[in-house]
Amino acid sequence: MKLFVCQACGNVLYFENRACERCGHRVAFLPEKETMSAIEPGGEAPVGQASGGQTFGGQVWTTLADKGRGRMLCRNAEYDACNWLTDADDSTGYCRACRHNGTVPNLSDPAQLAGWRELEVAKHRLFYSLIRWKLPLQTRQENPEHGLIFNFLADDPDSGEQIMTGHDNGLITIALTEADDIERERRRLEMGEPYRTLLGHFRHEVGHYFWDVLVRDGGRLEQCRAVFGDDSADYGEALQRHYAEGPPVDWQQSYVSAYAATHPWEDFAETWAHYLHIVDTLEMAAEFGMEVRPRVDRDGELTARIRFNPYETRDVEALVNAWLPFTFAMNSVNRAMGLRDLYPFILSPAVVAKLGFIHDLVRHVAKAGKP
Ligand SMILES: [Zn+2]
Ligand SMILES: [Zn+2]
Ligand SMILES: [Zn+2]
Repeated sequence: MKLFVCQACGNVLYFENRACERCGHRVAFLPEKETMSAIEPGGEAPVGQASGGQTFGGQVWTTLADKGRGRMLCRNAEYDACNWLTDADDSTGYCRACRHNGTVPNLSDPAQLAGWRELEVAKHRLFYSLIRWKLPLQTRQENPEHGLIFNFLADDPDSGEQIMTGHDNGLITIALTEADDIERERRRLEMGEPYRTLLGHFRHEVGHYFWDVLVRDGGRLEQCRAVFGDDSADYGEALQRHYAEGPPVDWQQSYVSAYAATHPWEDFAETWAHYLHIVDTLEMAAEFGMEVRPRVDRDGELTARIRFNPYETRDVEALVNAWLPFTFAMNSVNRAMGLRDLYPFILSPAVVAKLGFIHDLVRHVAKAGKP
């Protein structure tokens, strides 16, 4: 993630800001410029009705980032669930991240609305990365068979039905209950996981989607199998075995997480999620000009200057060589505050090779502008 500034006053902004804390300008994210922008009222667009029955039109905003044509705030701004802009003539009225929403929770229930907002924070950070790489993103309207769509579903207290987070053919279901910190932490402990976050769920599930698009449909199935193993192994049986027997004792030699050991599909999704963690976090570190140079490090193994753009780095080694010293430093800082490690994982050589596969996959698309 980049650091952004308010064009009106130069104040540094968070990606989630709705207003500049210093000058009070309303601010919003402009996806086509990949930047936050201060915005000013710029008239009204005629209110009309799109073919799908949605109404559009309303307040138009001028962006200080490009001073170009007027934009509109995404319709989810109405629920304070989105701070992105969209084109004033966009017939959906939704931004590039929210037009992938299918079912959202019951927004008249304050608890569900609050949970959904938490999910949206994570989802927008996910889309920031996908847009930066120019990964192919089709909505369900554009591709009814396999377009990317998110359903945010609450458990049904009457039937006792529990929603499972997962991916099925472009449809990603996110259990709203994961937005509840207590419940998510309870599940983390129950599963024996060192890390469980909403952003981690989004990055993992979209990994399954991009396996379909970039690997299976992108002509790279054999290459992928050579790195992640044979995905034709029965998935249901693999999951059952994992929950009955646990992962192999030496899983850390080959997998980034215990869950990745269940099946090659899960290994791909877990490794994909970690690739996104690494690249986006390193971009943030680079934006701060971070450098790790411990005085006790005589052979330079724990030294790194993060002065490159991780979204455009050619070699995965450059990412890993910066990531290890950086996370060692950040883990130590967290421990000093009595917190858990920022990055409680080990990257074995086998895992680095898997990250390299995903790096090449993403780089290839980013360079070509299409899969
Ligand atoms: Zn400002
Ligand atoms: Zn939106
Ligand atoms: Zn999965």
